[in-house]
Amino acid sequence: MHEPDWKGPLGEALDQALTYLAGLPDRPVPGRAGLAELRAALGGPLPGKPQDPRQVVAELATAAEPGLVASAGGRFFGFVVGGATPAALAADWLTSAWDQNAALHVLGPAASVVEEVAGGWLAELLGLPAGVSVGFVTGVQMANFTGLAIALREVLGRAGWDVDAAGLWGAPRVRVLAGQERHGTIDRALRFLGAGAAAVVPVDADHQGRMRPAALADALGRGDGPAIVCAQLGNVNTGAVDPVAEVCRIAHGHGAWVHVDGAFGLWAAASPALRHLVAGVEEADSWATDAHKMLNVPYDSGLVFCAHPGAHRAAMGTRAGYLVHATGAERDALDYHPEHSRRARGIAVYAALRALGRAGVAELVERCCGHARRFAERLAAADGAEVLNQVVLNQVLVRFLAADGDHDAHTRRVVERVQQDGTCWMSGTTWQGRAAMRISVSNWSTDEADVDRAVAAILRQARQ
Ligand SMILES: *Cc1c(COP(=O)(O)O)cnc(C)c1O
Repeated sequence: MHEPDWKGPLGEALDQALTYLAGLPDRPVPGRAGLAELRAALGGPLPGKPQDPRQVVAELATAAEPGLVASAGGRFFGFVVGGATPAALAADWLTSAWDQNAALHVLGPAASVVEEVAGGWLAELLGLPAGVSVGFVTGVQMANFTGLAIALREVLGRAGWDVDAAGLWGAPRVRVLAGQERHGTIDRALRFLGAGAAAVVPVDADHQGRMRPAALADALGRGDGPAIVCAQLGNVNTGAVDPVAEVCRIAHGHGAWVHVDGAFGLWAAASPALRHLVAGVEEADSWATDAHKMLNVPYDSGLVFCAHPGAHRAAMGTRAGYLVHATGAERDALDYHPEHSRRARGIAVYAALRALGRAGVAELVERCCGHARRFAERLAAADGAEVLNQVVLNQVLVRFLAADGDHDAHTRRVVERVQQDGTCWMSGTTWQGRAAMRISVSNWSTDEADVDRAVAAILRQARQ
C-alpha cells in the first residue's frame, strides 16, 4: 500500500478553518443560505466511487459555508454557547488525529492520565472537595443524567432497594425536589432514567428564578422516604443562582442527596470576584457543568463530579471478560460515564486549562459578566428598553416598550428584526409571562466593541 496522503485533506482543512476563523469578526452572524439551497449544495446521490479526500474536504467546506452560524465569534449572544479558544481547538484536532478510545486506560494511557489531571485541576478551580470523582460526558444533559443515576441508586440503596438488580418497578418512591425554574434537562434525564417527570416536586422560586429555601424545607417536610434535591447555578434566562449553601443544609438535614446543575453558573467559583455567589457549593453530593460553555472548549464537553467516588463507580461501571480493566492505580474512564467507547474529550479541556491558567479562567468568566453588565447599562439607559433581571452573571433580559402598549408583540418583533439584521444574534424568551430578548455573553473573543455594535443594532431595530 502506498503512503496515505494526510497532508492533502488535513492541509485543506487547516486552510479552510483559518479562512473561516479569520472571517468571524466581520461575518454576519446568522447563516445566509436557506434550507433548499443547503440541500441542493450538500445533497445529491450517494457517490458510487471513491473521491479524492482533499477535494471532498474542499467541496464540503464550500457547500457548508453559507449555512454556518457564527456562534464561534464574538457577536453571538444566543442560548449559552461559548466558543473555542485556540489551544482548546488545536487540542481537539489532535484528539481526532490520535483517535484514542478513552474508555479504558489500556486503550489510551496518555488520554487517561490527561483526563485524570484535568479532572483534578477542574475540581480545584471550581471549589469542589479534593478527591471528587469526575466523568467527561457530552454535555450537561448527560452530566445531569449521570448525577441523577448515581443519586437514585444511592438513595434507594439507603432505603434498602437494589436498583441495579430490581430497577424502579416496585421501588420506594423517590422524590426529586427541584426549583420551578430548573432546566429541562433535569426532567429529560429523569425520563431517560425511568423515574418520569412525575418524580419531580417543583419548589417555588423567587422573582429572579432562585429556589426559595423556605419552600424547599416545606416541601421536604411534607413527605418522607428517599429524596434528591436539584439545585441550579445559572438560570438560563436571568443567570440567577440558587442559594446553594442553604439548599444543601436543608436537604442534608432531611437525608436527601444534592445534585447541582451548574452548567455555566458553577464557573463563578473560578473567579475570586464572583465566588461568593456559589459559596457552599462544595457541600453538594454531585455536580454537573459544561466545559463547552464558559471554558470555551469545542462542543462535546460536559463534566460530572461526585463527592462519593465509590457510588459514582458503582452506578456507572461495567465489567466484561473481553475488556482489559485497570487493576492498579490506573483510571478507567468507563467507570464514570454512561458511554462505552468515546473520544478523549478531556484532552481539549486540559489544553484550555493550561493555556488560560487559573488567572485566565477567572478573567474569562469576569469578562463575560462585565460585558453582560455593559449590555444592561447601555440598554437600560435607552428610551423604550427595560432590563428585567438583576445581572449577576452573564445573562441579560430586556424588553422593549411599545407606544400602543403591546410590549410583548413589540419585543418579539425587535428580536426578529435583530436576528434578520445579522450584526448579532440572540433569541427571545418568555420571562414570568412577559416576552423578552435574552442576551447571553459566553464567548472568549467578545470585546467591548462587539457589545457596542450589538447594542447599536438592537436600538436601531427597536426604534424602527
Ligand atoms: C446549557 C444548560 C444545560 C444543558 O447543557 P448541554 O450542555 O446543552 O447538555 C442544562 N442546564 C443548564 C442550566 C444549562 O445552562
